[in-house]
Amino acid sequence: MDQSHSADFFDEGCLIGVLTTQPLDRVLDYKAPQGGCWRGAFVEVPLGPRKVLGVVWGAGSGDFDSARVRSVIRVLDVAPMRAELQSFLSRAASYTLTPLPAMLRLATRAPGLGDPPSMRKIYRLGDKTPERMTDARSRVLDVLRDYGGLAFTLRELAEQAGVTSSVIKGLVKQGALIEQDSPRDLPYPRLDPDLPGKTLSDDQARAADALRDALRQGGYGTTLLKGVTGSGKTEVYLEAVAEALRLGQQALVLLPEIALTAEFLTRVEARFGVRPAEWHSGVTMTERRRIWKMVGQGDAQLVVGARSALFLPFRSLGLIIVDEEHDGSYKQEDGVLYNARDMAVLRAAITGAQVVLASATPSLESWANADAGKYRRLDLTSRFGASVLPQMRAVDMRREKLDSNRWISPALVEAAAGRIAAGEQVLLFLNRRGYAPVTLCRACGQQIGCAHCDARMVEHRFLKRLMCHQCGETTPIPTECPHCGAEDRLAPVGPGVERLAEEAAERFPDARIATLSSDLFASARALKARIEEIAAGDADLVIGTQLVAKGHNFPNLTLVGVIDADLGLQGSDLRAAERTFQLMRQVAGRAGRAEKPGLALLQTHQPDHPVIRAILSGDEDGFWQAEAAAREAASVPPYGRMAGLILSGSDVAQVFDLGTVLARNAGPLLQIGAQIFGPAPAPIARVRGRHRVRLLIRAPKAAPLQDAISRWLAPVKLKGDLRLAVDIDPQSFL
Ligand code: ADP
Ligand code: ZN
Repeated sequence: MDQSHSADFFDEGCLIGVLTTQPLDRVLDYKAPQGGCWRGAFVEVPLGPRKVLGVVWGAGSGDFDSARVRSVIRVLDVAPMRAELQSFLSRAASYTLTPLPAMLRLATRAPGLGDPPSMRKIYRLGDKTPERMTDARSRVLDVLRDYGGLAFTLRELAEQAGVTSSVIKGLVKQGALIEQDSPRDLPYPRLDPDLPGKTLSDDQARAADALRDALRQGGYGTTLLKGVTGSGKTEVYLEAVAEALRLGQQALVLLPEIALTAEFLTRVEARFGVRPAEWHSGVTMTERRRIWKMVGQGDAQLVVGARSALFLPFRSLGLIIVDEEHDGSYKQEDGVLYNARDMAVLRAAITGAQVVLASATPSLESWANADAGKYRRLDLTSRFGASVLPQMRAVDMRREKLDSNRWISPALVEAAAGRIAAGEQVLLFLNRRGYAPVTLCRACGQQIGCAHCDARMVEHRFLKRLMCHQCGETTPIPTECPHCGAEDRLAPVGPGVERLAEEAAERFPDARIATLSSDLFASARALKARIEEIAAGDADLVIGTQLVAKGHNFPNLTLVGVIDADLGLQGSDLRAAERTFQLMRQVAGRAGRAEKPGLALLQTHQPDHPVIRAILSGDEDGFWQAEAAAREAASVPPYGRMAGLILSGSDVAQVFDLGTVLARNAGPLLQIGAQIFGPAPAPIARVRGRHRVRLLIRAPKAAPLQDAISRWLAPVKLKGDLRLAVDIDPQSFL
């Protein structure tokens, strides 16, 4: 290629604009280095006394004194950022009102990108046991066991285990660890799309054909793939992945829960012969860098990952799957506030890729987009093979006789006992971790709250501590009331899964009971192992939080008892009904996955509530239509736009003052027809000692909301420790 004539190549000395990962609000001018550089090149540039990472964003602005413009230090030996990713980062930044450098940080979350390819020492488990076991030593071995055979560098391992490198060296001498030389970054093995997949049902085959056709036609498109849990959606979208691979494109599968990826990776391996690249917070730094580089040079065909995988520098991304697209965890709730599902659609639209949104219970947003013809919709109408959806029935708790501090109704006890006697499994579902959500003093009537947050301390009897689910603070369970000092008058109120397990043990003395709650396991791996044991039959009664509602198959589970179906209906969240509907359907979907028909019993005090009725009747489209009509009438998402503004600071009066000033000077918002609510204390009004105040903005659907918010906030200067965060399309209203 004649480099000198390409608009995307800059000769040595040319003025170029470099976007760095530093928190500056502009692209900086530099001179192209010796040999020139491409637009998109990753470079190291001087910034004050430091060297920082950056990307050649385009031509320089010429706004700087040309005598003082410095040269790029070096061009890194990695694939340049493609124009597609540049434009995605820019668009995502303006959509979420995030500074561009923060977006670039998301896209470069792998250390040592500039390091030359080389060998390094890695450490893995050996087969000897050290002569003397110390705490530090066992921590090292635990880390390696937890990551199941992954190897670490010295620094990573020392950091993960919180030990010095001499501890690791000592273990090597003893043969408990093995030290090896390993090339830094290897390509991933090739996946074989032509290995035989499962024989698809007619429904599945039709859906797979449609997805394959869309991929062959090329260009952007989004498909909502809807089907109850177990209807075989995964098999269908794996066929789409196969087609993308055949076309020489890369594919990305996003999953909501790290804990569940292992089962999925095994399925990928069964389908394509090898495991794909895996990207999430549990992946070592070394592996991150490898994925990042290999994705960029096209040597990783398939990435399975958490939401941030969306910012990887794919070379030829042709397909993005967002599995369980309705899942709340796709919304990143701190740092850059983005919704990975929406950003997946944005990236695909820019790069001309296909998106598949898979769910048994789609979000109302996606449902409405399909309804409006913006998304294609494919339905898998029955469960794969013989299994059928469970029957659902309400247990009217107003009629059940229950002693105080008992939560399992006689009707549920009877049904469960029958199933257990028949050798089948039962799930009792309660979406509350810990022993009891409230600890109350019987002398003064006060509840124990967190010292730093506006949240109650939750008793975790298993850990023998009270814990704040907001900030994670824990304290020993006190014997005297922190308010009035009375001895031994503290009492737990209400059930968490641990307390439910106690009750279950009394009611079902002969049953093997397993309690599944994220905080009861030391690692995601340990939890996963336990889930697998249970699925294989190693428990009669499972007690679990929403953790079990997602994805995992329990073939012998035939009864689900929902302890408190009303739990999610409380509160003012605009998505409360939608969430309850989704969660209840998913939990119920755990029952009767194999040949045995399932039953779901929902304990409720409001059997006539429209949401409970919709869940019971199974009239999904009826539910969505009613919910859509209600949202449309209220002009709330997806029929209107919302943004949240969270102000925080240590001085509550200052925070409120700022909120009031902002609300009074909201001209740019009023101009676009938006309404502004607040300032009001945020639902969680204090976190880690900081007071939080919220403003809520509601705008017509077509209004240029981000632009108006930018103009509104432009004059704001934050004093002291005041902070401000904008949340476009808020999900949680925290
Ligand atoms: P979903 O993703 O909709 O929950 P899955 O794709 O996980 O459903 O399918 C549910 C179960 O049925 C899985 O164990 C899967 O292996 C099996 N299954 C799905 N489709 C087929 C098929 N065509 N042939 C054989 N087994 C299948
Ligand atoms: Zn707290």
